[in-house]
Amino acid sequence: MNLEELNAQIDRTEQRAPELAPTLAYYRELVKELREIEAGLPRVKLTASEPEVGITVKGGAPLSVLEPVPVDPQAFGLAFERVLNVFWRHQQGRAEEAAAIARTMWDYEEIVRLFFSEDLSGLLQMAESQGVEPQLFAYLVMMALRPFFRRYATSLGKYLKRDWWRDTRCPVCGQKGTFGRLAKEGERLLVCPLCDWEWPIRRIQCVHCGTEDHAQLVEIDVEELPGYALHACNKCKGYLKVVDQRGQDEQGIDLFLADLESQPLDQVAAERGYTREPEVAQ
Ligand SMILES: [Zn+2]
Ligand SMILES: [Zn+2]
Repeated sequence: MNLEELNAQIDRTEQRAPELAPTLAYYRELVKELREIEAGLPRVKLTASEPEVGITVKGGAPLSVLEPVPVDPQAFGLAFERVLNVFWRHQQGRAEEAAAIARTMWDYEEIVRLFFSEDLSGLLQMAESQGVEPQLFAYLVMMALRPFFRRYATSLGKYLKRDWWRDTRCPVCGQKGTFGRLAKEGERLLVCPLCDWEWPIRRIQCVHCGTEDHAQLVEIDVEELPGYALHACNKCKGYLKVVDQRGQDEQGIDLFLADLESQPLDQVAAERGYTREPEVAQ
């Protein structure tokens, strides 16, 4: 989705839900900033061979295992400061916490290293040791990393074939998909929260525990929220929010907007005993 389409969607969301206006004003500015950062990053070139890409991804590892996502710590630091600035201007309720983050001298190289060590607890500990709110810090780090991951996905995603992958992690960067989309012909796709890549997954399968037992899987629609559904599982009690774009010409979603708009579904899910991140033995 380009920035113009995104702004049109923000307008529509605001018309439907005027109470979200302050959050949407924040997001409008944030996404403009993120797209500018992304546009300033160099395109990523494939250094591995195309057959190696096929072997890696068909073998069950995301592309980023073969071809690491390049994140220059200095460029990341600048992105982080820009994201923090936008947050600070808009999130008045959390201005104190944002100020504490802005006052700290961060070691951006260490932040990038901890992120790629796949042990996010290291990042949270880093925040705690500086006396800043860990969840907000982790959120800002993720937001600042998004342009790098999007750049990577738009540069290298073309080397992946759709039928190579059926995992719930992203085939490009390895993050777990957090939102679903039913495409024009009814195919179910998962969307990556970090690089925005979409990939097909089976319709009759729980994205958390993997069960394919029809009797355990339920789809729940909410009348007040047309265009969205819950795909829930009675085996692990997990759920996935899904945007239904079957038969529509306009395709694609923005995760932040979709997640914000569909918050009533989280409530419905909680009332019925489902959770978004169930504990499932891997
Ligand atoms: Zn991804
Ligand atoms: Zn399940």
